[in-house]
Amino acid sequence: MLQDQDRIFTNLYGMHDRTLAGAKKRGHWDGTAGILDKGRDWIVDQMKASGLRGRGGAGFPTGLKWSFMPKESDGRPAYLVVNADESEPGTCKDREIMRHDPHTLIEGCLIASFAMQAHACYIYIRGEYIREREALQRAIDEAYEDGLIGPNACGSGYDFELLLHHGAGAYICGEETALLESLEGKKGMPRMKPPFPAGAGLYGCPTTVNNVESIAVVPTILRRGPEWFASFGRQNNAGTKLFAISGHVNRPCVVEEAMSISFEELIEKHCGGIRGGWDNLKAVIPGGSSVPCVRGEKMRDAVMDFDYLRGELGSGLGTAAVIVMDQSSDIIKAIWRLAKFYKHESCGQCTPCREGTGWMMRVMDRLVRGEAEVEEIDMLFDVTKQVEGHTICALGDAAAWPIQGLIRNFRDEIEDRIKAQKTGRVSAVAAE
Ligand code: SF4
Repeated sequence: MLQDQDRIFTNLYGMHDRTLAGAKKRGHWDGTAGILDKGRDWIVDQMKASGLRGRGGAGFPTGLKWSFMPKESDGRPAYLVVNADESEPGTCKDREIMRHDPHTLIEGCLIASFAMQAHACYIYIRGEYIREREALQRAIDEAYEDGLIGPNACGSGYDFELLLHHGAGAYICGEETALLESLEGKKGMPRMKPPFPAGAGLYGCPTTVNNVESIAVVPTILRRGPEWFASFGRQNNAGTKLFAISGHVNRPCVVEEAMSISFEELIEKHCGGIRGGWDNLKAVIPGGSSVPCVRGEKMRDAVMDFDYLRGELGSGLGTAAVIVMDQSSDIIKAIWRLAKFYKHESCGQCTPCREGTGWMMRVMDRLVRGEAEVEEIDMLFDVTKQVEGHTICALGDAAAWPIQGLIRNFRDEIEDRIKAQKTGRVSAVAAE
């Protein structure tokens, strides 16, 4: 289990002083100018050596992403944009950083921006996060007043502006190019890639978009060294990570843990176990609503990291939002609800997603009631494959994967329900 002295987020639960004075007491903003003094190449190299992979879901190496930014400016400014549009169902980790430990993020914004020669950084925060915005803005104001950001930030000679932008509540604005469109004042519709944001992003200028947690861990990694960070987790899955565990555990929580912790240890140590015991565990969605669900019996020994969940279980770590469902759950209905969510949030600009999400939701709607033919299960699976990978952005995949997970893991339950409906065994049919 992760020791307290190795926690990056020391005020995750808001038990301590979240002001600048409190943050400094806990070690934040310590020697920031000295870090900048070491130069941008040193910072990028350290981040690469730490093995940090993006915490927003995709798991792309952060240091490598930074190195895609142009070394020399061609006259255009560069930008860092922090994606704080945390809207994936089940995911609620970044909000704890922003409302309780905001200075970790602000200091990270300065250092990361400096490493990419961005003199301006935008944080795009989810529309529903009103209190979080207020807390974060207060912290930004404090940092300005203290000279930590603004002209000659931390006395380093580097000028740095940090702006907080409040979204209007669309899930799709968490997609990085839709987020940029929205920041520019347009409708939040994803752009075709390429060009990638590092070449032409915000206002057509080189831009890197990073998740809140990815940026907030940067100062501590640089202070304690990349070896320290890389000492947690299996190879290629380095570091500590915020896990947000919800659903049928005795104590749902957000907790910082070492990567590659076993699912059982995570649940037993921090959540007081599964509601009704391990035999009562039915299914787990291990990485936020877009990754495929996994049968409970396969999860107990699961290693909670990118490579294991993808390679061994055909699912994913995603944002590490762990949704636990016990035997009382109607898994078909739960996945139908996600299908409805993705249908609602589709921006509609590509046909497989616009039409496919609605089509999949309507078939799921009938599967919940068992009013379908068994052959339709394969037909539904085929349609998910026609949506997956055939759209501009990842929302198409996000809509397809939960249904694929359901069919792969709980086909027996879907078939049972169809048969029950046909034979009038009403007790086996989901309640409306
Ligand atoms: Fe819009 Fe869906 Fe296409 Fe993404 S996949 S661009 S959300 S229509």
